[in-house]
Amino acid sequence: MSGYFKYLFDGIKSLAIGLKITNKEFLTKPITLQYPHESVKMTPRYRGHIELIRNDETSTHQCVSCGMCEKGCPSGCISVKSKKVPGVKGKVLTAYILNFTTCSLCGQCVENCKFGAIRFSNEYNLASRRKEDYIFNLLERLHPEGVPEPKVDPELLKKEQEKKEAAAKAAAEKKAAAAKAAAEKEAAEKESAGGESKAEEKS
Ligand code: SF4
Ligand code: SF4
Repeated sequence: MSGYFKYLFDGIKSLAIGLKITNKEFLTKPITLQYPHESVKMTPRYRGHIELIRNDETSTHQCVSCGMCEKGCPSGCISVKSKKVPGVKGKVLTAYILNFTTCSLCGQCVENCKFGAIRFSNEYNLASRRKEDYIFNLLERLHPEGVPEPKVDPELLKKEQEKKEAAAKAAAEKKAAAAKAAAEKEAAEKESAGGESKAEEKS
Protein backbone atom coordinates (compact mmCIF):
# COMPACT_ATOMS: atom_id res chain seq x y z
CA MET A 1 0.00 0.00 0.00
CA SER A 2 2.86 2.37 0.89
CA GLY A 3 4.37 1.66 -2.55
CA TYR A 4 1.14 2.82 -4.20
CA PHE A 5 1.21 6.18 -2.35
CA LYS A 6 4.87 6.65 -3.12
CA TYR A 7 4.14 6.01 -6.80
CA LEU A 8 1.26 8.52 -6.65
CA PHE A 9 3.38 11.13 -4.89
CA ASP A 10 6.22 10.77 -7.42
CA GLY A 11 3.73 11.18 -10.27
CA ILE A 12 2.24 14.37 -8.78
CA LYS A 13 5.70 15.76 -8.06
CA SER A 14 6.86 15.05 -11.60
CA LEU A 15 3.70 16.67 -12.99
CA ALA A 16 4.26 19.78 -10.81
CA ILE A 17 7.87 20.12 -12.00
CA GLY A 18 6.79 19.74 -15.61
CA LEU A 19 4.00 22.30 -15.24
CA LYS A 20 6.34 24.74 -13.55
CA ILE A 21 8.67 24.64 -16.57
CA THR A 22 5.71 24.86 -18.97
CA ASN A 23 4.30 27.90 -17.15
CA LYS A 24 7.69 29.59 -17.08
CA GLU A 25 8.21 29.11 -20.82
CA PHE A 26 4.60 30.13 -21.48
CA LEU A 27 5.32 33.55 -19.99
CA THR A 28 8.75 33.93 -21.62
CA LYS A 29 9.03 35.93 -24.87
CA PRO A 30 9.45 33.50 -27.78
CA ILE A 31 12.90 33.42 -29.42
CA THR A 32 11.71 31.87 -32.67
CA LEU A 33 12.24 34.20 -35.65
CA GLN A 34 10.21 34.27 -38.82
CA TYR A 35 13.18 33.65 -41.10
CA PRO A 36 13.76 34.95 -43.80
CA HIS A 37 11.55 37.93 -42.87
CA GLU A 38 13.44 38.30 -39.60
CA SER A 39 17.17 37.80 -39.00
CA VAL A 40 19.27 36.78 -36.06
CA LYS A 41 21.47 39.49 -34.54
CA MET A 42 24.96 38.07 -34.82
CA THR A 43 27.47 38.21 -31.99
CA PRO A 44 30.25 40.83 -32.31
CA ARG A 45 32.90 38.16 -32.92
CA TYR A 46 31.00 36.43 -35.71
CA ARG A 47 33.00 36.20 -38.95
CA GLY A 48 31.13 36.69 -42.16
CA HIS A 49 33.00 37.66 -45.33
CA ILE A 50 35.15 40.79 -45.02
CA GLU A 51 33.71 44.19 -45.92
CA LEU A 52 34.90 47.78 -46.26
CA ILE A 53 34.05 50.01 -43.31
CA ARG A 54 32.12 53.18 -44.04
CA ASN A 55 33.65 56.31 -42.55
CA ASP A 56 30.83 58.44 -41.12
CA GLU A 57 32.62 61.71 -41.85
CA THR A 58 33.36 61.03 -45.50
CA SER A 59 30.48 58.60 -46.11
CA THR A 60 32.88 56.31 -47.91
CA HIS A 61 35.68 53.83 -47.11
CA GLN A 62 39.10 54.66 -45.70
CA CYS A 63 41.11 52.25 -47.83
CA VAL A 64 44.29 53.83 -49.21
CA SER A 65 44.90 51.00 -51.72
CA CYS A 66 48.20 50.02 -50.09
CA GLY A 67 47.62 46.37 -51.01
CA MET A 68 48.80 44.94 -47.68
CA CYS A 69 45.63 42.86 -47.30
CA GLU A 70 46.11 41.45 -50.79
CA LYS A 71 49.76 40.59 -50.15
CA GLY A 72 49.03 38.97 -46.78
CA CYS A 73 46.09 36.83 -47.88
CA PRO A 74 47.27 33.18 -47.82
CA SER A 75 44.47 32.13 -50.16
CA GLY A 76 45.10 34.87 -52.72
CA CYS A 77 41.44 35.78 -52.75
CA ILE A 78 41.77 39.58 -52.61
CA SER A 79 42.44 41.86 -55.55
CA VAL A 80 42.76 45.61 -54.89
CA LYS A 81 42.52 47.85 -57.96
CA SER A 82 43.32 51.54 -57.88
CA LYS A 83 44.35 54.49 -60.04
CA LYS A 84 45.88 57.94 -59.67
CA VAL A 85 43.39 60.76 -60.06
CA PRO A 86 44.71 64.32 -60.60
CA GLY A 87 44.06 66.49 -57.57
CA VAL A 88 43.53 63.57 -55.20
CA LYS A 89 46.16 62.58 -52.67
CA GLY A 90 47.40 59.00 -53.02
CA LYS A 91 45.70 56.34 -55.08
CA VAL A 92 41.94 56.01 -55.52
CA LEU A 93 40.36 52.60 -54.99
CA THR A 94 38.47 51.54 -58.10
CA ALA A 95 37.57 47.96 -57.12
CA TYR A 96 38.07 45.62 -54.16
CA ILE A 97 37.46 42.10 -55.35
CA LEU A 98 36.98 39.29 -52.85
CA ASN A 99 36.76 35.69 -54.02
CA PHE A 100 34.85 34.28 -51.08
CA THR A 101 34.95 30.73 -52.51
CA THR A 102 38.55 30.35 -51.34
CA CYS A 103 38.50 32.57 -48.23
CA SER A 104 39.25 30.67 -45.02
CA LEU A 105 38.19 33.59 -42.77
CA CYS A 106 41.67 33.51 -41.23
CA GLY A 107 41.63 37.25 -40.49
CA GLN A 108 45.09 37.97 -41.89
CA CYS A 109 43.75 40.75 -44.13
CA VAL A 110 41.98 42.50 -41.25
CA GLU A 111 45.14 42.31 -39.14
CA ASN A 112 47.34 43.55 -41.99
CA CYS A 113 45.22 46.64 -42.62
CA LYS A 114 46.84 49.45 -40.66
CA PHE A 115 44.10 51.89 -41.66
CA GLY A 116 41.18 50.02 -40.12
CA ALA A 117 39.49 49.90 -43.50
CA ILE A 118 38.10 46.35 -43.40
CA ARG A 119 36.35 44.06 -40.94
CA PHE A 120 34.33 40.88 -40.86
CA SER A 121 30.70 41.39 -41.81
CA ASN A 122 27.66 39.93 -40.10
CA GLU A 123 26.53 38.31 -43.32
CA TYR A 124 25.44 34.74 -42.58
CA ASN A 125 22.72 33.84 -44.99
CA LEU A 126 24.42 33.77 -48.35
CA ALA A 127 22.98 31.07 -50.55
CA SER A 128 23.60 30.30 -54.19
CA ARG A 129 24.62 27.41 -56.40
CA ARG A 130 26.60 29.72 -58.66
CA LYS A 131 30.28 30.24 -57.85
CA GLU A 132 30.20 33.73 -59.35
CA ASP A 133 27.73 34.84 -56.68
CA TYR A 134 30.52 34.54 -54.10
CA ILE A 135 32.91 36.85 -55.91
CA PHE A 136 32.19 40.31 -54.57
CA ASN A 137 33.30 43.80 -55.37
CA LEU A 138 33.34 45.16 -51.83
CA LEU A 139 33.45 48.73 -53.10
CA GLU A 140 30.17 48.25 -54.93
CA ARG A 141 28.69 46.47 -51.92
CA LEU A 142 29.59 49.50 -49.80
CA HIS A 143 28.01 51.85 -52.35
CA PRO A 144 25.07 50.01 -53.92
CA GLU A 145 23.72 53.40 -55.01
CA GLY A 146 26.89 54.01 -57.07
CA VAL A 147 30.52 54.67 -56.16
CA PRO A 148 30.99 58.42 -55.50
CA GLU A 149 33.60 60.41 -57.39
CA PRO A 150 36.74 61.19 -55.34
CA LYS A 151 37.00 64.73 -53.98
CA VAL A 152 39.49 66.82 -55.93
CA ASP A 153 41.65 69.27 -53.98
CA PRO A 154 42.07 72.39 -56.19
CA GLU A 155 45.32 73.37 -54.46
CA LEU A 156 46.82 69.92 -55.01
CA LEU A 157 45.57 69.87 -58.58
CA LYS A 158 47.26 73.22 -59.24
CA LYS A 159 50.52 72.04 -57.69
CA GLU A 160 50.42 68.80 -59.71
CA GLN A 161 49.81 70.73 -62.94
CA GLU A 162 52.68 73.12 -62.19
CA LYS A 163 54.95 70.17 -61.42
CA LYS A 164 53.90 68.47 -64.65
CA GLU A 165 54.51 71.62 -66.69
CA ALA A 166 57.89 72.15 -65.03
CA ALA A 167 58.85 68.53 -65.78
CA ALA A 168 57.73 68.90 -69.41
CA LYS A 169 59.68 72.16 -69.75
CA ALA A 170 62.81 70.59 -68.23
CA ALA A 171 62.49 67.60 -70.57
CA ALA A 172 62.10 69.91 -73.59
CA GLU A 173 65.11 71.97 -72.54
CA LYS A 174 67.17 68.82 -72.04
CA LYS A 175 66.15 67.59 -75.48
CA ALA A 176 67.00 70.94 -77.09
CA ALA A 177 70.39 71.04 -75.33
CA ALA A 178 71.15 67.50 -76.50
CA ALA A 179 70.19 68.40 -80.09
CA LYS A 180 72.34 71.53 -79.96
CA ALA A 181 75.30 69.57 -78.58
CA ALA A 182 74.88 66.93 -81.30
CA ALA A 183 74.72 69.63 -84.00
CA GLU A 184 77.85 71.32 -82.63
CA LYS A 185 79.67 68.00 -82.50
CA GLU A 186 78.68 67.23 -86.09
CA ALA A 187 79.84 70.68 -87.26
CA ALA A 188 83.16 70.27 -85.44
CA GLU A 189 83.67 66.85 -87.04
CA LYS A 190 82.92 68.25 -90.49
CA GLU A 191 85.31 71.13 -89.92
CA SER A 192 88.08 68.85 -88.78
CA ALA A 193 87.46 66.50 -91.76
CA GLY A 194 87.62 69.53 -94.14
CA GLY A 195 90.95 70.71 -92.61
CA GLU A 196 92.52 67.28 -92.99
CA SER A 197 91.56 66.98 -96.71
CA LYS A 198 93.02 70.43 -97.47
CA ALA A 199 96.30 69.42 -95.77
CA GLU A 200 96.40 66.24 -97.83
CA GLU A 201 95.85 68.26 -101.08
CA LYS A 202 98.74 70.62 -100.21
CA SER A 203 101.11 67.74 -99.52
S1 SF4 B 1 40.13 36.22 -44.13
FE1 SF4 B 1 42.08 35.25 -44.72
S2 SF4 B 1 41.60 34.03 -46.53
FE2 SF4 B 1 39.87 35.46 -46.22
S3 SF4 B 1 40.37 37.23 -47.51
FE3 SF4 B 1 41.18 37.66 -45.46
S4 SF4 B 1 43.32 36.94 -45.53
FE4 SF4 B 1 42.26 36.04 -47.27
S1 SF4 C 1 41.95 47.42 -47.04
FE1 SF4 C 1 43.61 48.20 -45.76
S2 SF4 C 1 45.37 46.86 -46.23
FE2 SF4 C 1 43.85 46.56 -47.85
S3 SF4 C 1 44.48 47.98 -49.47
FE3 SF4 C 1 42.94 49.03 -48.20
S4 SF4 C 1 44.15 50.18 -46.68
FE4 SF4 C 1 45.51 48.64 -47.57
